[in-house]
Amino acid sequence: MKVAREHQLRLIELQDFDTAVSQLNHKEKTLPEILRRDQLKAALPIAENALVSAKTVASDIQKLVKRADEDVEQVRQRISKDSALLDSGTLSPKDLVNMQHELETLKRRQNVLEDEELEIMTKAEEAEGVAIAAQSEFEQAKAELESATAAADILIAEIKAERDQNFTHIEQLRKVIDLDLIKLYDKIKSDQGGIGAAKLVDKTCDGCRLELSSTDLSAIKASDVEEVIRCDNCRRILVR
Ligand SMILES: [Zn+2]
Repeated sequence: MKVAREHQLRLIELQDFDTAVSQLNHKEKTLPEILRRDQLKAALPIAENALVSAKTVASDIQKLVKRADEDVEQVRQRISKDSALLDSGTLSPKDLVNMQHELETLKRRQNVLEDEELEIMTKAEEAEGVAIAAQSEFEQAKAELESATAAADILIAEIKAERDQNFTHIEQLRKVIDLDLIKLYDKIKSDQGGIGAAKLVDKTCDGCRLELSSTDLSAIKASDVEEVIRCDNCRRILVR
């Protein structure tokens, strides 16, 4: 294949811009800021779930506190009603004895219920503490994610702007380079890890970094400058 030298030189320019795009793609994938953002993003639902379950536990225990309080209050009212009856002097001696027994039973019951209520209230306080801690952890995780996202977004925008500039050059070059040469370049580029064309630097192929034999070099020197040559080792287009 013969292609004007100018096209071959432009192919090297195209290769440089294509390489720059691959490097930017790689940079974007491996940015520590993006990895951190992704880690925080994955961790946020875990913090949120912990918060939801801590709140549920706290609210369930709060319901038990309310119920225990109502139970105590009920017994307290009964005691107060019975005491009033006892003090009224209207009860028969037999009822009086029964009432005293009942009052004693009720007071014992009141003590038991009050102890239980205290125990539940302690648990409620603990659960409330856990919920508050979970809330603050969730808020912190959210804030960290927001700031990591902002930091990553800035870098992504920078990379995108740089990549777009390269794309503009790539587009322009692909319009002016010989179509058959472009086709060959694209084919080799996809087979050879993104590098389709390389310069011959001194005696070395810049694509595979191997030195060419003196026979090959002499053959290249003797060939027409428009002849498209390929590296014998890596098969890339070799531009003199
Ligand atoms: Zn090579």
